[in-house]
Amino acid sequence: MDSEGVDVPVGCFHCEDAPCALVCPVRAIARNRETDAILIDSDVCIGCKQCITICPFAAIHVDIEKRIVYKCDLCQGEPECVKWCFTGALQYTATPEKSLDFKRRQTALLIGRATQTTRKLVP
Ligand code: SF4
Ligand code: SF4
Ligand code: SF4
Repeated sequence: MDSEGVDVPVGCFHCEDAPCALVCPVRAIARNRETDAILIDSDVCIGCKQCITICPFAAIHVDIEKRIVYKCDLCQGEPECVKWCFTGALQYTATPEKSLDFKRRQTALLIGRATQTTRKLVP
């Protein structure tokens, strides 16, 4: 939490067909071609929070003061969390095809579950 000065990495999968980018009404979310990261343009974001609702990994957060949202931006291609991880558990590498398939299936599964839950809540 910002107020307590505690920093933790919150993973964004930088999804291939990023649902957060698809739902953004003002196209504030897009992929950076150099780093392959999905980024939020804070100058364009209107703080509607639709991206938060759709993200299956809870990777987007609200900046209460600025009234916009933010998330992992891969630190412009040089992830600080990887540098600071003293056990080497975090690594920044090209995504193997096998891992990409896994991400696709997991994302589809989570979005499917979220859609079912929404249908149950809305009569
Ligand atoms: S914020 Fe969520 S939906 Fe968007 S790219 Fe990251 S993990 Fe995927
Ligand atoms: S909160 Fe910002 S980035 Fe997210 S969907 Fe709304 S305008 Fe787009
Ligand atoms: S890459 Fe940067 S923004 Fe993303 S989780 Fe790691 S430290 Fe945070």
